[in-house]
Amino acid sequence: MNPKGDAELREFIRKLALLNAVRHDGKAQTGSVVGKLLAEKPELRSKAKEFARLVGEVIQEVNSLSLSKQKGIVEERWPEALVKEKVEEEKRLPPLPNVDKYAEVVTRFSPNPDCVLHLGSARAIVLCYEYACMYKGKFILRFEDTDPKLKRPVLEFYDSIREDLAWLGCKPDEEYIQSDRISIYYEYAERLLKDGKAYVCTCQPEQFREKALANKPCVCRDLQPEEHLKRWQHMLEGGYKEGEAVVRIKTDLNHPNPAVRDWPALRVLDCEKYPHPRVGSKYHVWPLYNFACGLDDHLMGVSHIIRGKEHLTNMVRQKYMYEYLGWHYPEAIHYGRLKITGASLSKSEIVQGIKEGTYKSWDDPRLATFAALRRRGITPEAIRKLMIDVGPKTSEVVLSWENLNAYNRKILDPKANRYFFVHNPMQLTVRNIPKVFSAKLRLHPDYPERGFREYTIKRTGEDNSVALWVSRNDIEVLKVGKIIRLMGLFNIKVERTDAYSAEALFISEPYEEARKVGAPLIHWIPIGADLPCQVVMPDATVAEGIAESACKGLKPDDVIQFERFGFVRVDEVDMKLTAYYAHR
Ligand SMILES: [Zn+2]
Repeated sequence: MNPKGDAELREFIRKLALLNAVRHDGKAQTGSVVGKLLAEKPELRSKAKEFARLVGEVIQEVNSLSLSKQKGIVEERWPEALVKEKVEEEKRLPPLPNVDKYAEVVTRFSPNPDCVLHLGSARAIVLCYEYACMYKGKFILRFEDTDPKLKRPVLEFYDSIREDLAWLGCKPDEEYIQSDRISIYYEYAERLLKDGKAYVCTCQPEQFREKALANKPCVCRDLQPEEHLKRWQHMLEGGYKEGEAVVRIKTDLNHPNPAVRDWPALRVLDCEKYPHPRVGSKYHVWPLYNFACGLDDHLMGVSHIIRGKEHLTNMVRQKYMYEYLGWHYPEAIHYGRLKITGASLSKSEIVQGIKEGTYKSWDDPRLATFAALRRRGITPEAIRKLMIDVGPKTSEVVLSWENLNAYNRKILDPKANRYFFVHNPMQLTVRNIPKVFSAKLRLHPDYPERGFREYTIKRTGEDNSVALWVSRNDIEVLKVGKIIRLMGLFNIKVERTDAYSAEALFISEPYEEARKVGAPLIHWIPIGADLPCQVVMPDATVAEGIAESACKGLKPDDVIQFERFGFVRVDEVDMKLTAYYAHR
């Protein structure tokens, strides 16, 4: 090597080392730098020993600089290398209102554990969590499980919700369960009754509704607080049956929205008929949504409520109670509707489908539950990024699966190693092979340091042939007379083809020759170096085929890319590989 070439090479290695160092907290990784170097200058392969010392020297020099010094050099000399990373960093949520009015930003996610969580909950979870982090505040998980009749909680869902939050990377700082807090709700009910701000209504629901619609009080409303406290005791002692008594919060009877007028706060339920999964039949007076949620937001110190617009009326209702108790209503951010086309986000549809057996389990690939997304290899990072980009805007947002897939692809692409999967396999026999070929296929095109899958292609018989699996999906490409490139191997010319098999002749080895004639590239697997493989598709159908034998070393939860097929998550590997399809 001449002195000039030497200096140039040294400078090139220095660039790679500096770029690598700024990405790794100031310490360049030798393996990555060597890999990048060989990828960009393959001619150096044969001189690996000669330049190993040079790389070592340069890395030592670069790593001795401080991170800020390294960044300074990169910014000055190769600013374009930093542009991409900067853009990624700039995505931020808009600031929350009136943060300085509170000692601490506290947000909460409050699911009813009557179903598993799905993508529809992602926005509330991610926004609440991210805002809490952004202001170094607190994120609360609160189980709202006070309707054992119509929204009956189920024990397994408390755990699955905790797991989903952990998987999303949104672990709560505190957790509360409303069915543990019934005595607190009773205490406040009594206080409001005593102050004449609430009353026990024993009217038939229909009678009450008629009066409310006419802006008139029912017969109970104006009775003395003593009478209501008596009725309350009677309620607690089981003197009223289900439907016979309701505690109502007084509001303006002229409020334009009839649904706000004297809203119900607590009611009687038949606790023998509807036992609660956690507390059984201990209580027959249960708080309703607005009462429990409204009290808890204040009692738990929630500073910012972040939720959908459908809760606007609830805020109006709860504000009456806050006024009576002398409390300040938290900041409320109501975002617009989020629709995801093609995803069933209705809890009742999901539950019904499971009951009827339409869906095999909560992680059925057709569902948009977190369990299903996890099984398919959709990453929590993609969900979080997407939700941060959507943010808390008030206008309606319509997303498609493809939006989520695009975020996920960006995250998986650098991570996922590449393998061949032959869907609908058929046999291809290639004749006239001049020598034994050794195919070295990169695990990842951009990360040569990860290594290769290697297959030796041995010819047999008088015609020096080899038998490979190719996909029947490529039948349109396998036309007689056509030149085709077997990826990473050699070029062939198709001689004969039918629905079950094809025959071809070896033509040449260099990729250049395939490129010159515009030959299509197809993937292949040597017969004998294969592993039966099933890919469960998002519509729950199964794509049957063969994976290359290197897949035997994969483990469940590995996410890989089957080239020309798509990204999949490995579900099980033994005598057969089972994978779940994420997306192309
Ligand atoms: Zn009444």
